[in-house]
Amino acid sequence: MSNLTVREEIDRLRETWGKRLLILGHHYQDSDVVACCDAVGDSLELSRLAAASDAERIIFCGVRFMAETADILIRDAEGKSCGRSVWQPAPEAGCPMADMADGKTLEAAWQNLTHRVDDRPLTPIVYVNSNAEVKATCGKHGGSACTSGNGLRVVKHFLDLGHRILFAPDQHLCTNIMRELGYPTTAVATWHRDLPDGGLTTEEIRAARLIAWDGCCPIHASYTIGDVAAARAAYPGAELLIHPEAPAAVAALADQTGSTKGIIDTIARAEPDQTFIVGTEEHLVRRLARRKEPKIVSLRPIICEDMGLTTPEQILHVLQTWDESCRVKVQDDLVLDARASVERMLAL
Ligand code: SF4
Repeated sequence: MSNLTVREEIDRLRETWGKRLLILGHHYQDSDVVACCDAVGDSLELSRLAAASDAERIIFCGVRFMAETADILIRDAEGKSCGRSVWQPAPEAGCPMADMADGKTLEAAWQNLTHRVDDRPLTPIVYVNSNAEVKATCGKHGGSACTSGNGLRVVKHFLDLGHRILFAPDQHLCTNIMRELGYPTTAVATWHRDLPDGGLTTEEIRAARLIAWDGCCPIHASYTIGDVAAARAAYPGAELLIHPEAPAAVAALADQTGSTKGIIDTIARAEPDQTFIVGTEEHLVRRLARRKEPKIVSLRPIICEDMGLTTPEQILHVLQTWDESCRVKVQDDLVLDARASVERMLAL
């Protein structure tokens, strides 16, 4: 089937479903996929839209943790689905960073840290880019989820209460947040999943205000100081915007670090004669660069393969077959704890 025919068939089926169907797409999706969506946004914006809509069926074009978050938020007060469901056209699309933490090892780390050092409460904070069982472990221990956009506010809230934080799974996001909050590098210690006791001594834990899980986004973590030097040399006077999942040494060189939404908003407010070097996933950078002004260039083109797995053909497949292998249903016993972590974030 040609691309246009696929699109026409998707549109025909969408019309049949009307408001009972909602198709959501993340900013990092290919433009052909974005064209099939009712709304495009970052993971949290999209999950909020899913929760606020009355749609019976939600097709989530993104990676697994995003579809899981939508499923967690559409459940009723008792955690039941009530006839609503979330579908992922490319069910194999996961997130390598989310997979760097699981509920069991996060629980073991939290137990280890709280038993060894109890001078302050230890609050888990998990990035929304995490699996449902990680969010549930966080929620169970009174912790909160956060996004790259509100992470600073969430971390500050618990630090101001005097708590120590166990942050998972992205070490770079939380290190950048601590730097922005003015904490010295010694206030962050790294929990190494593969080492006994996380590789941390009691003294190191006591000295730290935040313990960073040793995960990272392989896309954003691959940016280097050399990339920045090359881009600055090629585009003198340009403003450098980098996603805070980049390593601290690179993010520190940016004019601004910002979530996907933050980057989009900054560019939307810019003067027409400005030039921006943007350090985030390439699907989004290419879409931003299509506009005539301001000028947008990539820090270094880099694609998230998982984000690129969804195609219009797969959306059509879901619409035609409602193939159960594409259904995303979070384990019932995880839903309420996982949602508690997301709701705590929304309340802050
Ligand atoms: S860009 Fe990074 S955080 Fe986002 S889905 Fe890909 S690997 Fe995960």
